[in-house]
Amino acid sequence: MSSGNVYIETFGCQMNELDSELVCGQLRALGYRFTTESSQADVVLYNTCSVREHAEQKVWSRLGELRDRKLTQPGLVVGVLGCMAERDGEDLMRRMPVVDVMCGPGELDKLPALLDNAVRTRASLLAELPEHLNATDVSARQVALQGNTSRRSATLAAAADTLELLDLSRSISPISVGADEGTGEFARRTAYVRITRGCNKFCTYCVVPFTRGAEIHRPPDHIVDECKRLADAGVIEITLLGQTVNHYRFEHGASVMVGGVMQPQKGRTYAGGHRRDPFAGEATTTFADLLARIHDEVPAIQRLRFVTSYPRDFGDDVLEVIRDHPRLCRYLHVPAQSGSDRILKLMNRGYTAAEYTEFLDRARAILDQPEIGRPLMLSGDFIVGFPTETDEDFDATVALVERARYKSAFIFKYSPRPGTVAIDKLADDVPEGVKRSRNNRLLLAQAQISEEIGASLVGTTPQVFVEGLSAKERKRRDRAKPANTPSKIPGGVALTIAGRAASGPAINARDEACCGTKPREEDAQTLPDQVQLTGRTDGDVIVHFDAPPDRAPESMLGCIVPVRITQVRGLSVLGTMAGE
Ligand code: SAM
Ligand code: SF4
Repeated sequence: MSSGNVYIETFGCQMNELDSELVCGQLRALGYRFTTESSQADVVLYNTCSVREHAEQKVWSRLGELRDRKLTQPGLVVGVLGCMAERDGEDLMRRMPVVDVMCGPGELDKLPALLDNAVRTRASLLAELPEHLNATDVSARQVALQGNTSRRSATLAAAADTLELLDLSRSISPISVGADEGTGEFARRTAYVRITRGCNKFCTYCVVPFTRGAEIHRPPDHIVDECKRLADAGVIEITLLGQTVNHYRFEHGASVMVGGVMQPQKGRTYAGGHRRDPFAGEATTTFADLLARIHDEVPAIQRLRFVTSYPRDFGDDVLEVIRDHPRLCRYLHVPAQSGSDRILKLMNRGYTAAEYTEFLDRARAILDQPEIGRPLMLSGDFIVGFPTETDEDFDATVALVERARYKSAFIFKYSPRPGTVAIDKLADDVPEGVKRSRNNRLLLAQAQISEEIGASLVGTTPQVFVEGLSAKERKRRDRAKPANTPSKIPGGVALTIAGRAASGPAINARDEACCGTKPREEDAQTLPDQVQLTGRTDGDVIVHFDAPPDRAPESMLGCIVPVRITQVRGLSVLGTMAGE
């Protein structure tokens, strides 16, 4: 099949958003078209997340809705991609025969072939459907999962890493780069680039090492080349992605070519505790080297940032490169997970709360320069209600949040995940009510700090990358337009200084509330004929401001403009565009 309407919905993290973008590019090149309306699709794909049960439940309910639809649209092909496919395996198909295609995150390069087979298989099964069955009983059963035999667990030299080819074949054009599907009119000027895949950490609560496999590092030339191609297509902001992104390292002496393509390398174990990459030298591209290379070789990228950093082994060499290269953002996302040493040990995180804060102090000493308008902004992740967590352990977490002074924090209630060490060895013994109240307490503590950090920005004039309409403006337009009319300007980042980029219509940002409280853009003093825009500072602080009357709001998307911060309301920072 070379055509058909595809609807793709993405759940979970930025890595999934990037996977969806790569998959869309690949399918588009084969003639598929995309729709933002699931009801108009011939193929419905869910790119799933298994990190918390809540994210999986959403997918189960979407699949339930599709069961009825298959009765009226028997040829509809349904695919589950990503971590849930990998984790549940063929059990998912048994429980939900509505699913025709399952494709794990390590096998996405095979998706076009799977879809093609699924369309044909469905058609022939339906042609021979026994009378006592209906279309919902028939699954085309096309499956590509890594299972326990990860192709990356053998030496990478043994076979070409075809997943690397998916990243290498990324289709990049001014329209395809994050263009607003459905309108095709606006190319976003921000993009993700993967530098590592998988994870070797095995935190006891986490499914990622099982669903995404062993950690591998992409060749630096591939990464730099991808950044150059994105820059040529108009991208000015890049976020490098990896689960433990600061562990990136590529040893050139050990590089292997297969079919003319340099292969990614397996991650090596860190000795731990060092402040500089011990392998630094000409024969190795360290994470610090990679940042400097992209900065120097792709000057059109005005903002370069990276997520997610692992707090242990974060070298001074990386911090110094950020300090010395002006287009590297002063923003670090460094999850702590808990402030209690006992819980950190049970989580297998490999550091103590004191070691974590020592790192933050070191990062601030090297990077925080508010006097030149470059304050270091930090954000973190926390899990509350981990098995055996006492009030005392939780108090230590609150103390860490107060000490760290993040600009935002993602706070999650512990969710036991099948296959992890924690679910096997530790009873989920913190009652739901206690998890909820700790969650709320931590959200409140963080909200107070976010507001104080917002207030400290009042009177400053940071450069703001304009991402789209504010949520308030989108709501206003939604109320004014007839149903089903697509917006002509993409929505910006959802919302607040604690927010995260949402990437277009069919893509959900992280599903949990961050810092809990709803944004209060409504409070902004926008005149009726003014359009409120949303953007981010270099430190990832979300700013709302009115487009000046003499500029078309559309013309400002993807630009970096100076905005004078005038007030902080709740979690939001409001400002006025300053003269350029
Ligand atoms: N690699 C990153 C790190 O460790 O810093 C995080 C990746 S993980 C996909 C994103 C976040 O989800 C984690 O930082 C953690 O706070 C949260 N998380 C992971 N497993 C969880 C679980 N079982 N229950 C609740 N939250 C979880
Ligand atoms: Fe999961 Fe830990 Fe790896 Fe992050 S570092 S992905 S939390 S196992």
